[in-house]
Amino acid sequence: MLIEQPPKFFRALYPSAIFRMDPNEHSIYLTFDDGPIPEVTPWVLDILNKYNVKATFFMVGDNIHKYPEIFQRVVDQGHKLGNHTYNHIRGFEYWSNKYLKNAKKADEYMHTDLFRPPHGHMRWMQYRLLKKYYKIIMWDVVTRDYSTKLRGPQVLANVMKYTRNGSIITFHDSLKSWKNGNLQYALPRSIEFLIEEGYEFKLL
Ligand SMILES: [Zn+2]
Repeated sequence: MLIEQPPKFFRALYPSAIFRMDPNEHSIYLTFDDGPIPEVTPWVLDILNKYNVKATFFMVGDNIHKYPEIFQRVVDQGHKLGNHTYNHIRGFEYWSNKYLKNAKKADEYMHTDLFRPPHGHMRWMQYRLLKKYYKIIMWDVVTRDYSTKLRGPQVLANVMKYTRNGSIITFHDSLKSWKNGNLQYALPRSIEFLIEEGYEFKLL
């Protein structure tokens, strides 16, 4: 539970970051991290299209650089973009100015005021710097689709258990989530569940 739904003490580390939207609205915010990549992102786009829902994609700049046509498909389908650094770097391993520079490099490939730190970590100074330029978006529900310890039904169960009004829900259009089969299992079923529950799908 500490991972799937970030606890209050973690949220308090980054007081102006957004973990959850309006709790009074029966809405959710689907997000996808780590793309765009040819093996996974087109499949995600087809699923979103099938159910006619929109999502926000936190992209790695280097992936956009490598796969501009996949990036363009995400844009053309009307989804929203967020910055997830240029090289998917870990905040704790970088000096703050280098970290910011890496995020800014990703900005050369997409225009967005949203930022999500890879692995959910930022040094405090990085957070201070980033929030001058971006709205920092964390999450209310981590599906853990990337985990090799979980199977698809458990990923779906995380969505069913932890989603609530205003939840920002995180999936990954990454090879990790794809190779274990979790994304293929859990994404369509999660969307069906959320539709049945009457949630409105909104963009950040
Ligand atoms: Zn990531």
